[in-house]
Amino acid sequence: MPLELNTATRSLRCDVCNAIIKTKPIVVKTCCNNRPWTFCSNRCYTIWMRDWLRKQEQTRQKGKL
Ligand SMILES: [Zn+2]
Repeated sequence: MPLELNTATRSLRCDVCNAIIKTKPIVVKTCCNNRPWTFCSNRCYTIWMRDWLRKQEQTRQKGKL
């Protein structure tokens, strides 16, 4: 069934490098996002986290102005 395949493939994709995750994925949920983030490795998780923290900081600074 194509639909089942699409769902399974999407849930196993890394959100940073878009690679198909073959091993146990790292799944993260943030307060402002209902969709969980999936990462293939600790390296990709760190890359995303750095970017996410920067965005959080920018949002906070905008709120102050
Ligand atoms: Zn990755």
